[in-house]
Amino acid sequence: MFVSKNLDVNENGNLTIGGFDTVELAKKYGTPLYVMDEDMIRSHCRSFKESIDKFYGGNGLVCYASKVFSCKEIYRLVASEGLGVDVVSGGELYTAIAAGTDPKKICMHGNNKTIDELKMALEYGVGRIVADNIYEMKSIDKLCAETGKKADILLRIKPGVDAHTHNFIRTGQIDSKFGFALETGEAFEAVKFALECTNLNFVGIHCHIGSQILDTQGFEAAAEVMLVFIKKIRDELNAEVRDLNLGGGFGIQYTEADDPLPYEAFMEAVSLIVHKFCKENDMPLPFIIIEPGRSIAGPAGVTLYTVGGKKIIPNIRTYVSIDGGMCDNPRYILYQSEYDAVVANKASEPKNTVVTIAGKCCESGDLIGENMPLQECEPGDILAVCATGAYNYSMSSNYNRLLKPAVVFIKGGESRVVVRRETLEDIIRNDI
Ligand SMILES: *Cc1c(COP(=O)(O)O)cnc(C)c1O
Repeated sequence: MFVSKNLDVNENGNLTIGGFDTVELAKKYGTPLYVMDEDMIRSHCRSFKESIDKFYGGNGLVCYASKVFSCKEIYRLVASEGLGVDVVSGGELYTAIAAGTDPKKICMHGNNKTIDELKMALEYGVGRIVADNIYEMKSIDKLCAETGKKADILLRIKPGVDAHTHNFIRTGQIDSKFGFALETGEAFEAVKFALECTNLNFVGIHCHIGSQILDTQGFEAAAEVMLVFIKKIRDELNAEVRDLNLGGGFGIQYTEADDPLPYEAFMEAVSLIVHKFCKENDMPLPFIIIEPGRSIAGPAGVTLYTVGGKKIIPNIRTYVSIDGGMCDNPRYILYQSEYDAVVANKASEPKNTVVTIAGKCCESGDLIGENMPLQECEPGDILAVCATGAYNYSMSSNYNRLLKPAVVFIKGGESRVVVRRETLEDIIRNDI
């Protein structure tokens, strides 16, 4: 009935998340409000971790791709589950360190890390920097020389496998701003360059083939391509590749149309390929890193709004306006992403209407979705948008000087604020 397993309806007909009445949460903390189910996040961390233990002898690391939802509490949470983290900016890195993350378990990504960001990464001693281009390798090498450090780096590779939802395509995929292309020889030259840099420790290769992927074939194809490259590096450059980082992208259910796999299916499929290839080619098994983001946080979250005005345009559509929108969830205006919505205080009623949910920003495109089945609703109702735990809070903005909502975690019968709601004072904080 609901897209996420932690959603249900209670005896009052209200939507619950992890057993919590969402209408009560809206009353207590106000709207708009992000609510995240800590137990579910933890169970997702465990599923990925256990899949490496079960299918790959524990010879790997799950790094939470923190761009999907970044605040101090989530770094503490994933660390307590034994995960590492990916960061893509100085801001994410700073937050992770402020939350006490072990720098050795941090992997630094980004296609244009600034010199300041690289300096920060080296000062904190992050465990892995994924280098995206030659200029970056030169910069890291130089910074290391100046400070007497040596950096462990991976190279970001475009494997020529591009996966989206149910399909993957073998493309040149040369046209991407991320990483080095394999088939042009660019990636091989980059490895040679890395090996020549005296202050760089070339430890591995990385790829990330897409997002919201709902089957394993793309990962299998990418793993195969990467293994062939590892073999080439061994045979022709006599260099060992320690880490094979296969990225993230594991899909979740947003609407009834999505049918995601159990999370362990990815490692199961990939380990088969890796074991077979390494055996046939007499290669040591690489240390495997996976980087789930959306799949860890996405299904664990809902966003609660208060319904305002309704605009019925005969024979065209009905707009239902809410007290948030593209500022707290820009995914519709960015990608026309689909969501499932529920009137939280009427969750047991049938969805008899089809509406367009409109935000309150001064943009016609500021919608949560169009043609969304919904219960009849009226001003003052609480609207829940489901599976908003990933790429919502982290993509939020202050457009129109709207205040960013609070984030509340629920766990074992308790709810607590992990990110405070912004105040008007916050809005002018940096204004001179
Ligand atoms: C975005 C990203 C991820 C996470 O992707 P999801 O689709 O959220 O799992 C992992 N690794 C890299 C390098 C990324 O850019």
